[in-house]
Amino acid sequence: MSARRGVTILGSTGSIGCNTVDLVERRPDLYRVEALVANSRVDILAEQARKLEAKLAVVADESAYPALKEALAGTGIEAAAGARAVVEAAERPADWVMAAIVGAAGLAPTLAAVRRGAVVGLANKECLVCAGQLMMAEVQKHKSTLLPVDSEHSAIFQVFEFDQHDRIEKIILTASGGPFRAKDRDFMKDVTPEQAVAHPNWSMGAKISVDSASMFNKGLELIEAHHLFDMPEDKIDIVVHPQSVIHSLVAYVDGSVLAQLGSPDMRTPIAYALGWPNRIEAPAPRLDLATIATLTFEAPDPVRFPSLRLAREALRAGGSAAAVLNAANEVAVAAFLDRRIGFLDIAAVVERTVEGVNHCELTSIDDVLAKDGEARRFASSILGRTS
Ligand code: NAD
Ligand code: MG
Repeated sequence: MSARRGVTILGSTGSIGCNTVDLVERRPDLYRVEALVANSRVDILAEQARKLEAKLAVVADESAYPALKEALAGTGIEAAAGARAVVEAAERPADWVMAAIVGAAGLAPTLAAVRRGAVVGLANKECLVCAGQLMMAEVQKHKSTLLPVDSEHSAIFQVFEFDQHDRIEKIILTASGGPFRAKDRDFMKDVTPEQAVAHPNWSMGAKISVDSASMFNKGLELIEAHHLFDMPEDKIDIVVHPQSVIHSLVAYVDGSVLAQLGSPDMRTPIAYALGWPNRIEAPAPRLDLATIATLTFEAPDPVRFPSLRLAREALRAGGSAAAVLNAANEVAVAAFLDRRIGFLDIAAVVERTVEGVNHCELTSIDDVLAKDGEARRFASSILGRTS
């Protein structure tokens, strides 16, 4: 019998997905691939499926199905398409699932993996932002294990003494500050999508790159950290650290502050989650502190980055507020990437949507999806009317 760990990768063609494929491919002795899921990039998906000898490859976009079928002809690899097939892929018996679909679109398949008690590497932070409480309850109920892949949360996880929870004074998330850290609002008003996705330290998908530029990414991560580590909003600090070497910190009541460091390369936190509870090798550049020489820190600017205030307010409000914030941000980022609104309009759309959509409690995933839909419709209706 094979002792290899069965792996499914949701969002395998994206930035996190490709890095995960890279790590899995290096260790055929440890991993076998059950399913790979992507939105529509058939060329990359089919190549990954062949290379890793996956059992199943799925595209969410049904119009891409004929091309996928053709690309996999004669391989014995099953092909499927559509939103239902994405969830079914997550339901297949893999021990470990990488949740790396971008946005709330990843919620249903991630939940499907959680509900069968899988070990889930969670990159898809939007899941926890829009349905954190419900998701954590499902994790507990089905004895699933959620391993953070976000570099900050991986760092915290690695130094967080869970049995000393009440001895933790605060957790400190580091933020690179993004490409506009040192720019003024006048400059930010007119930036293009190309400028916004050009991150100084990390190479990532378009949506999270824009989120990093607006610092909504750090706002989403604040909410993510709250759910993962059961820490109240006022015990989560954010500090800007432009070198992205210290990935986050945990401060204890005795004055000790523990941190995890490394080069800004997502293969390290992905490898941590993939190998857990063991450590596996990752080909990330090694940290050379003498060459880096200087690590700097500064407080985030609440005026240029209202995203942090909006995320804190949503977290304090509870209920549907974070789901609405997330949905509005997804709509606004897509409109910005499409050049339909300016960069500073993103936060304006989010703020107006959070104010305009009725607040409620979320008692089921259907509630989350309904609020998500309502917030998307509201945000779409005010695009271009924010200034
Ligand atoms: P990306 O845009 O590069 O990739 C997204 C993946 O999701 C692609 O494979 C795409 O095909 C797939 N996808 C999109 N919509 C889908 C749908 N409806 N159904 C099925 N698949 C769909 O994004 P990314 O940068 O890899 O980020 C993925 C997630 O990981 C995001 O939630 C992001 O916030 C998080 N994350 C990314 C990084 C990073 O370094 N890239 C770091 C931390 C967290
Ligand atoms: Mg992060």
